[in-house]
Amino acid sequence: MSARPANAGEPFGPKEPFGPKESFSPKEPFSPEEPFSLEEPVRILRVAVPSPLRRSFDYTLPTDSTTAPDSLQPGIRVRVPFGNRELTGILLEVSDTTSVNLNKLKPAIEILDQTSLIPAHLLSLWLWAARYYQHPVGDALHTLLPTGLRGKAQANIKKRKNDAVLDDAAEADHPDREDELTSEQQQARNDICAMSDQFQCFLLDGVTGSGKTEIYLQVINDTLSHNRQVLVLVPEISLTPQTLARFRQRFVDRSIAVMHSGLTPRQRLNAWLLAAKGDADIVIGTRSAIFTPLARPGLIVIDEEHDSSFKQQDGFRYSARDLGVMRAQRESIPIVLGSATPSLESLHNALSGRYQHLRLTRRPGNARLPVTRLLDTAQQTLEEGFSSELIQSIRQHIDKGNQALVFINRRGFAPVLQCRDCGWTAECLHCDARMTLHRTPAHLRCHHCERRQPVHTHCPECQGKSMLAVGIGTERSEALLQRHFPDTRVIRVDRDATSRKNDLNDLLAEINQGGPCILVGTQMLAKGHHFPAVTLVAVLDADSGLFSADFRGQEFMAQLLVQVSGRAGRSDDAGKVGEVLIQTRHSTHQSLQTLINQGYHALAEQLLSERRLAAMPPFAAMALLRAEAMNAAAPAQFLHTARLQAEQLLTQMPDGHQVQISGPLPAPMEKRANRYRQQLILRSTHRANLQNLLSVLCQQLEQMSTQRSVRWSVDVDPQDMI
Ligand code: ADP
Ligand code: ZN
Ligand code: ZN
Repeated sequence: MSARPANAGEPFGPKEPFGPKESFSPKEPFSPEEPFSLEEPVRILRVAVPSPLRRSFDYTLPTDSTTAPDSLQPGIRVRVPFGNRELTGILLEVSDTTSVNLNKLKPAIEILDQTSLIPAHLLSLWLWAARYYQHPVGDALHTLLPTGLRGKAQANIKKRKNDAVLDDAAEADHPDREDELTSEQQQARNDICAMSDQFQCFLLDGVTGSGKTEIYLQVINDTLSHNRQVLVLVPEISLTPQTLARFRQRFVDRSIAVMHSGLTPRQRLNAWLLAAKGDADIVIGTRSAIFTPLARPGLIVIDEEHDSSFKQQDGFRYSARDLGVMRAQRESIPIVLGSATPSLESLHNALSGRYQHLRLTRRPGNARLPVTRLLDTAQQTLEEGFSSELIQSIRQHIDKGNQALVFINRRGFAPVLQCRDCGWTAECLHCDARMTLHRTPAHLRCHHCERRQPVHTHCPECQGKSMLAVGIGTERSEALLQRHFPDTRVIRVDRDATSRKNDLNDLLAEINQGGPCILVGTQMLAKGHHFPAVTLVAVLDADSGLFSADFRGQEFMAQLLVQVSGRAGRSDDAGKVGEVLIQTRHSTHQSLQTLINQGYHALAEQLLSERRLAAMPPFAAMALLRAEAMNAAAPAQFLHTARLQAEQLLTQMPDGHQVQISGPLPAPMEKRANRYRQQLILRSTHRANLQNLLSVLCQQLEQMSTQRSVRWSVDVDPQDMI
């Protein structure tokens, strides 16, 4: 029997469009000699083991194994020795070659699964994701398994009393009926349903309140009638219990598995297994649910696709939206990305014809889009951030029995505590940031590292006794509004006011009773809520987003303003017309003018042409190499070496000049939680070149000795530059 030659190159997975090229395939650290050629037909288990190393590991079969090696499916869990520990890894393949000396290979300890829990196409997506995002394969795969499967436990569904992840039909009050669709809605629904058995990506681009959710529900119904499962991704389930309630009410006799971070490991595992076995018809979850296996996949829906929560910001930094599109392609099913404010990436794909663009331009029934006005506050004396015109408008809406919503992008009482005499401000010892003043209870808190301290009674610099609260946070606005409207309920909605489990639900329930009240809050109020009694939305200060250093700053600003404005005027009652007032000191700012007068899409197209000229995403691929350390100089030194190595590698690559490197530069907040942070920005209009460079560079950086004192990470397609 002849052994096949060892494949010292790509150790895992099928070839992918962005995979390393032959000449740049990562070298196995353990290949001292010629590939070991095997005389005996020994079978090698190639396993992804949770470790920070970007490679897989080889083992021989467990000594007591009676299983025929060729019946072992990729994707099963294998218990293996690793250093002096025992770990659970995932089998990638059974091979008859290895680049390790056979005498040095250890036997695996135990085969944990009889059959793979992860379908082959999904495993290949997991592997592709690990490689695309340049994350160590073992660690990536490990984090994709539900916690309950990361040890030795069997993959069985165990139900205890409180583990009801499948929603009880009894919980829904009345089945909800389908709305009769507007013609725009019908068109969109028919277009999606027509593609029910093939891959197609749809951008459902519909103004706020245009009935996107109604389309999801009807298309999902169609998919379920073909006996297929549906995966729905939403930004944050806990923030939008109403969306979940609509699903429950519409699909009373279907099983719905819900997956989010609030579940116990057992609940999560149950939901995962029900999805994998095909027993859950609908899976609704946040970001990580994109990796859930489905036995009979039929449709993926990603609601609010522009939301930055779909990108994981630490560890394995994947984008659930982008992987959703990859996944739908592999499963030959349609995917719907929905938003009133599509990301520039998705919009670009829709405009260039890669995605099918479905537009909804109006609200159904009598609901109308609100009228938006800018209030220039540059020449005005404000009372704690409020112009007198704004207070008057709030009064008019409240007097009519309606609700007003005031949006402020900052929680706490005031963002700055300052000495009136010498100008000293309270700063965090551990971050390049000011401490935020909170009033209930009184303390100073750093919003970047959560450090707290008592409020200074006098200035530590000059001993002066007049300490001023400068700037406006939600707590301060709440107090001011309560003074102006002593007989009206003022409801504050932010992370501090909703820290306990049912706080938010209680507040939302109160708002939805519909009585006159004033809502004051942060982004939490902007996300997907349907508040029919809200007729006025006020943005206290639009200016911070106008001058952001982040290249996506204006895009984010526009999305936030449109989303928060979209909470106004959603009632079907023709008398409840919506109004939006935006306070700014820069009412002539061009982006703001375009947004207000011509709408989101006009601004988006303007921003897209700027990005094209500057060769920024989506017209170029970008990656960020971040480094941080306790020592102020170490991160820059590390990244400087990384840059030299990258430049060296680029000289060996055919189109190496197509990758641009800038930095090392300090991160926008250089010091955070006592660590100094620097970054290197890599960009290319040829994504494959960037990916090839990164895969070799990361292998090299892994071997560097400074690695011990410097923490580094790579972020492919970074969402924000912090
Ligand atoms: P979006 O998801 O685009 O914000 P929704 O689907 O939540 O919009 O719809 C907003 C409101 O309009 C909801 O109360 C919904 O029930 C209602 N609605 C949606 N489509 C129709 C329709 N065709 N006829 C009447 N009301 C509708
Ligand atoms: Zn002072
Ligand atoms: Zn801090």
